[in-house]
Amino acid sequence: MARYTDSVCRQCRREGTRLFLKGDRCYNEAKCAVMKRHTPPGQHGQARARKASEYGTQLREKQKCRRAYGVLESQFHKYYEMASNMRDGMTGENMLCLLERRLDNVAYRLCFGASRAQARQWITHGHILVDGKKVDIPSYLVKPGQKISVRTKSFDIDYFKGLREQGADKPIPKWLELDSANLSGTVAAMPQRDDIDLTIEEHLIVEFYSR
Ligand code: SF4
Repeated sequence: MARYTDSVCRQCRREGTRLFLKGDRCYNEAKCAVMKRHTPPGQHGQARARKASEYGTQLREKQKCRRAYGVLESQFHKYYEMASNMRDGMTGENMLCLLERRLDNVAYRLCFGASRAQARQWITHGHILVDGKKVDIPSYLVKPGQKISVRTKSFDIDYFKGLREQGADKPIPKWLELDSANLSGTVAAMPQRDDIDLTIEEHLIVEFYSR
């Protein structure tokens, strides 16, 4: 599978906002690259900071969302198509809710990873279970009632030890419930738009794809 291999902080600088791609470092303003340098990356970054066209604004919003969730373009477009084929709800909101239901995002929201990238790595390495069975597909979409947990053999990993001892280091969205002592969480409901804390104007993404 294709992977993004450049500095992840460049992605935040390109979008001009913190996308929280690096875990703890992102919460330290003195260390966060986008807080230190406000221009897009690269030699001509300053020039690219000019006012964007309508198309440019839509493109940037789409890229910002895609990068925040760590999804490649083809898969991101599939979420748009799935959302636009849903009978109920608004396409943009449906798309965000689909992204939110990805297993790597759920593991991140439950603090099973400091970033979505780390949560994805735990999943692909087989540390995460869904209803007691190993699921190593980061794009797996969770459903209400499912239990997401860390396999007991992995409890000795320092990261998980810390989570068991200190509990969650960020708020858990209300559609999920965390039992940090047992490293397990439950999907209590489908995520709603209000539950998603990313500052994304999803209507711009819909406009981008429906051009
Ligand atoms: Fe983005 Fe985090 Fe890097 Fe800041 S530290 S630029 S939020 S990845």
